[in-house]
Amino acid sequence: MKVIKTIEEARREIGIWRKQGLTVGLVPTMGYLHNGHKSLIEKAKAENDKVVVSVFVNPIQFGPTEDLDKYPRDIERDSVIAEEAGASFIFNPEPAEMYKSTFSTYVDCEGITEGLCGSKRPGHFQGVCTVVSKLFNIIKPNRAYFGEKDAQQLAVIKRMVRDLNFDVEIVPCPIVREEDGLAMSSRNVYLSQEERRAALILSKSLTRSKELLKNGEKETKKILEEIIKVIETESLSKIDYVEIVDSEDLAPVSTVEKPVLIALAVFIGKVRLIDNFTFIG
Ligand code: AMP
Repeated sequence: MKVIKTIEEARREIGIWRKQGLTVGLVPTMGYLHNGHKSLIEKAKAENDKVVVSVFVNPIQFGPTEDLDKYPRDIERDSVIAEEAGASFIFNPEPAEMYKSTFSTYVDCEGITEGLCGSKRPGHFQGVCTVVSKLFNIIKPNRAYFGEKDAQQLAVIKRMVRDLNFDVEIVPCPIVREEDGLAMSSRNVYLSQEERRAALILSKSLTRSKELLKNGEKETKKILEEIIKVIETESLSKIDYVEIVDSEDLAPVSTVEKPVLIALAVFIGKVRLIDNFTFIG
């Protein structure tokens, strides 16, 4: 698998494809690829002639106390997985290639970034929007693939693309889970054996809320209380947030009338995990 480190070389390669009239799918990732990422790459391969996987641990989307330095990295392993899934090359720039020392332009998406992870991780979505804009400008993909695992990120990117008229189709991809229900995440490698077991409480609490909704419960306060109750049965867990919001604009809702996103972030020991599901009704 070819691993391209510079913007110039990536552009050269893509320029050749463009001259041949080929379509390009982009799968932005932070690497340490798993089957969740693989499903995005495979979907991109099924819908485009060429697929670029970016592997970039984007420093500007991490807060000062977050896990930037210890975020897992293994480009050799990523190359094998990306190749198997059908990628054409990996774009793996160093931070200095993406951010010159005088870098000073950022993309901000307002409103939709106020709740959920946005309120807990100040500056996170500015970092995400900025790097994704840069990747769109470098790769110029026809389509870009994002996981529903990061539901707020997906909503924010869709909004940014609409607002700034990026000429790219955003393709949402379903959450890939381990057999026992834990949503796959590169951060799962941080979990000890005991924490790995405890981490199941995220999907379990969502399953409970699904039951309530299916039984006709409409009051979000009651559903939230029940989710919190379930999570609190796990002594290793600490809730960062649990929210029920409109699935389009991510505004909090008190009764379930339209499709809603139920999203949560929970610390299992020191590891912060997220999960969600969308209830269409
Ligand atoms: P990350 O490397 O964690 O930044 O994720 C890169 C992309 O893969 C994002 O669009 C994520 O939403 C997506 N992704 C991560 N985990 C999963 C998963 N378990 N299922 C589906 N997509 C995922």
